[in-house]
Amino acid sequence: MVSKESAEAEALRAEVRAFLENNLPDKWGTPEYEPPEPSSQEAIALSKSFTRKLYDAGYTGFGLPKEYGGVERPAWERTVIREELARRGTPALAGGLGRLVVETLMQWGTEEQKKHYIRRILDGTDNWIEGFSEPNAGSDLANVQTIAVRDGDEWVVNGQKCWTSGWQRGDWCFLLCRTDPAGPRHRNLSFFLFDCSTPGFSRGPLRQLTGDAQYGELFFDDMRIPHENMVGEEGRGWYVAMTTLIAERGGGAVAAEGGGGGAQSNLEVRALGNVNDLIELAKNTRRYGRSLWEDANIRRKIVHIATQNEAMRYFGQRLSGMIRKRTATGNEAVMGKITRTEQGKFRGDMISEIIGAYSQLMKGDPRALDDGGPIHSMLFSRGQTIYAGSNEICRNIISERVLGLPRD
Ligand SMILES: Cc1cc2nc3c(=O)[nH]c(=O)nc-3n(C[C@H](O)[C@H](O)[C@H](O)COP(=O)(O)OP(=O)(O)OC[C@H]3O[C@@H](n4cnc5c(N)ncnc54)[C@H](O)[C@@H]3O)c2cc1C
Repeated sequence: MVSKESAEAEALRAEVRAFLENNLPDKWGTPEYEPPEPSSQEAIALSKSFTRKLYDAGYTGFGLPKEYGGVERPAWERTVIREELARRGTPALAGGLGRLVVETLMQWGTEEQKKHYIRRILDGTDNWIEGFSEPNAGSDLANVQTIAVRDGDEWVVNGQKCWTSGWQRGDWCFLLCRTDPAGPRHRNLSFFLFDCSTPGFSRGPLRQLTGDAQYGELFFDDMRIPHENMVGEEGRGWYVAMTTLIAERGGGAVAAEGGGGGAQSNLEVRALGNVNDLIELAKNTRRYGRSLWEDANIRRKIVHIATQNEAMRYFGQRLSGMIRKRTATGNEAVMGKITRTEQGKFRGDMISEIIGAYSQLMKGDPRALDDGGPIHSMLFSRGQTIYAGSNEICRNIISERVLGLPRD
């Protein structure tokens, strides 16, 4: 809640509610609404068109300069807007991992790159995917083997990436390649942006624990990228990628400002929605003749999550500012990443506690609660502790760089 619920805030609330009433899909929020499959073309089109409407209304794209497409609004307005979007729930917003590109370009991009790419992320035009990990370059990311060789004004790329989140949805991809095979570690990589319709690029699914194929593999067979699509200097891609990783590890935290495009606002909205969902679930689940919302232990755990969300929001505002001012060391984001993803597991386990034996029923089972949605999020929370640098690696970073303990 904003501290002073002024007439102005009330008027803005009414405006956002009316906007949602007029722009959400038919029957949204009712049992009759049938959402499209998350990775279907229909879902992609819905997320893009809804993000565009949100952007045009000035309800997303905060925290970035106007000249790059940012939407400037006072903090209280951003809070009211976020709260109203969370209250009603919205379709997934577009952008994919575009928020990482925004933060990376703000630090390393040329003026042309910032002007060209950022607005298209904010308004939902382009979905982005991340091409970092390889079969032998996960925790040891500096071991990237995908190679790019210069040919005039272009780079010719060959190799393979894996674990690409939202692989089907990518219009554009950011890519870490080896450009100097004989060069020293950390100084032999370069960072590129490429259009996913480029000839020589192909992709396919990887199936995971939840049964979905949200992650995929990317293949490069003599794919050409214009030199102007390199971000930062040749051979300095490791340092550019570290900025991307700070933003990724900051995750929901960086979302605090709501800037960086649909995906970023979406994380923030989802964090608020996550608590509302839990409250609903507890209220609607009865055990031993009473609602679980009457169980003080359950309420205590929900309050714990809500309190952490608030702490992460403020932490995120600080981190976002540090990234923009180039004072972030990376250690802060690592702490945020561990907190957020361990919270995800805590929340997932709590869902299992609330729904009891139903937590064994997956999507497609007619008796599954909410078509297996709650249990899906419990299983998915495991993966969150691995991406963007596993929590073990993140704890190593804290122990070595923050606490000064001996190297692993
Ligand atoms: C849900 C999800 C989404 C992802 N999305 C993307 C994406 O969009 N794009 C992308 O490029 N990548 C993505 N990844 C890949 C992710 O970055 C890697 O999985 C991660 O960096 C770990 O690498 P790995 O899987 O190769 O495991 P490994 O590096 O082989 O590690 C295996 C295990 O050993 C542990 N370990 C390794 N080294 C050490 C050490 N020094 N000290 C202590 N423990 C250690 C790790 O913590 C882990 O538990 C995603 C992964 C997941 C799970």
